[in-house]
Amino acid sequence: MNSLLATVNKILTYSVVDGPGNRLVIFLQGCNFNCPACHNPYTIGVCDHCGDCVAACHVDALEMVNSKIVFDAATCDQCDACLTACPISASPMVQRLSVSDILEIARKNKPFLNGITVSGGEATLQLKFVIALFTAVKADPDLNGLTCFVDTNGHLGAHSWERLLPVTDGVMLDIKAFDPALHHALTGQDNAKTLKAATIVHDAGKLYELRFLTIPDKTDTDAEVARLTDFARALGSNVRIKLNAFQHHGVRGEALKWHKMTESSVTKIATHLRKAGITEVVTPALYL
Ligand code: SF4
Ligand code: SF4
Repeated sequence: MNSLLATVNKILTYSVVDGPGNRLVIFLQGCNFNCPACHNPYTIGVCDHCGDCVAACHVDALEMVNSKIVFDAATCDQCDACLTACPISASPMVQRLSVSDILEIARKNKPFLNGITVSGGEATLQLKFVIALFTAVKADPDLNGLTCFVDTNGHLGAHSWERLLPVTDGVMLDIKAFDPALHHALTGQDNAKTLKAATIVHDAGKLYELRFLTIPDKTDTDAEVARLTDFARALGSNVRIKLNAFQHHGVRGEALKWHKMTESSVTKIATHLRKAGITEVVTPALYL
């Protein structure tokens, strides 16, 4: 078990927005989508040790050793200049952690936790590790009662869901768009797997929340909202929908020119969904 290592961008020991209750959140590095609207774009790439970020570091916390980037956490002052310098949206500051490493962090924080969530990047790209971690959490008497959740873009085949769902308590699944061409434009990938995944996870009784990022003139259109409504109703009126609102924090390139989503526009969509019989619709607490 300990030979399996995850590439981890960040760990939060306290989060109330990544599933029910207070959760330990493991942000895994690497994503199979490339969304201009991503709020955390430096989790997308996986470092290829090109060395381009070394010169950007003003405190010499980065160096190349035997053609590999080496990061000195004790020297780093977290200026994030290396992230901006990276040509592939990777990070030289990732950690390689074992299941045991994460269990140790979970044990230390157990009195304050309701569960563990793996997020990203796209957590399911490190599927073997996620399955091993969740299996170990469930087998550990010290972690008794903690639930295991996945935050995912759903781009995972049915066979892989069959392996993951038995050790998973809940899934937060993002649908970026219903129109295939729009989805491709927003992510670089097709949405067929994601839509299928929503049904697989729901039928297994593990769909905690469907998430939908509303973007002016892209995903807030009547056509997209109608398809979201129909899709949610087909799953069942008890499906929980979380509407997120596009803002500019963290986004890149063309997305910086897109309009921000306003509270009144999100409320209009939420009202439409509720009128259509979707009982649980969650809207953002803040518009920043
Ligand atoms: S975040 Fe740390 S490693 Fe990166 S450039 Fe700044 S000081 Fe250097
Ligand atoms: S983090 Fe990016 S810039 Fe730095 S070595 Fe890795 S790939 Fe190159």
